[in-house]
Amino acid sequence: MSGALLDGKALAQKVRDEVREDVAQFVAKHGRPPGLDVILVGEHAASVVYTRNKEKASNEVGMRGRLHRLPAETSEAELLDRIAALNADETVDGILVQLPLPKHIREDLVIDAMSPAKDVDGFHPSNAGRLATGKASLVPCTPIGCMRLLAETGRSLEGARVVVVGRSNIVGKPMSMLLLGANATVTMAHSRTKDLPAVCREADVLIVAIGRARMVKGDWIKEGAVVIDVGMNRDEAGKLCGDVDTDSARARASFITPVPGGVGPMTIACLLQNTARAAWARTAGR
Ligand code: NDP
Repeated sequence: MSGALLDGKALAQKVRDEVREDVAQFVAKHGRPPGLDVILVGEHAASVVYTRNKEKASNEVGMRGRLHRLPAETSEAELLDRIAALNADETVDGILVQLPLPKHIREDLVIDAMSPAKDVDGFHPSNAGRLATGKASLVPCTPIGCMRLLAETGRSLEGARVVVVGRSNIVGKPMSMLLLGANATVTMAHSRTKDLPAVCREADVLIVAIGRARMVKGDWIKEGAVVIDVGMNRDEAGKLCGDVDTDSARARASFITPVPGGVGPMTIACLLQNTARAAWARTAGR
């Protein structure tokens, strides 16, 4: 058996098209486009590419995307001032501070400073708490993208055994909360989990977000399982790869996301969706 590849690129295009229509309706009602402000501090190479892509993608769907490039030596106070100004600006619906930040800036403080209503990354403790308590909120983009990919399989999550490997605030934890909300039976695994291969073999759905190139092998996969590979790594040869050894896993899985072209493209598409959502929520009743 060879599992079907879940095409994140095509699905992301579909999501972008939906957002473009939503944005047109927003402009018709409010006379301005939703605004997304992305802040980049320093010159971290991957972050430069990610933030440019976010700015470009938001403009492509008709939003007002704006990238603030601040020098690496920007002080914490200066960054907090910039966030306060964006919090107060009525034309700004979404604020995203690209992580990682330079070492002299405390990430927690920066995330806490963002207005939760504009926190389109969904990292603010208020949004994380709302998600954990089952209330509507801005949810981190990568897990939303994974849920949408799972929906494409047509498999019900209700009662399914799902294993999420990785417990970061950005991916693993919010992913587990969304799955619980969909009535899956969720196991969260991490670096201290004993016999990780055996835990993974229990999964009808396996979500892997650890940041270790091709660590999860085919014989860790239950026959017919759905595998979502969040990882984005470079192997020894410098080639982009996931956390799952796709070739051997595909032989056992029913569906699997490729890297690249799986979860990655969905993350930006879901950021656009979050920004449109934030814009509507902020202007509700107006
Ligand atoms: P973090 O480094 O924040 O978290 C990694 C998690 O994996 C931790 O919970 C850690 O456990 C766990 N882990 C690490 N090593 C092992 C191991 N050997 N066995 C079991 N668990 C392990 O990473 P992120 O969640 O931010 O990202 C994970 C991956 O996803 C990365 O490759 C990243 O590049 C990618 N990513 C991709 C995105 C996309 O759009 N495609 C978006 C975001 C991330 P512990 O808590 O015990 O330390």
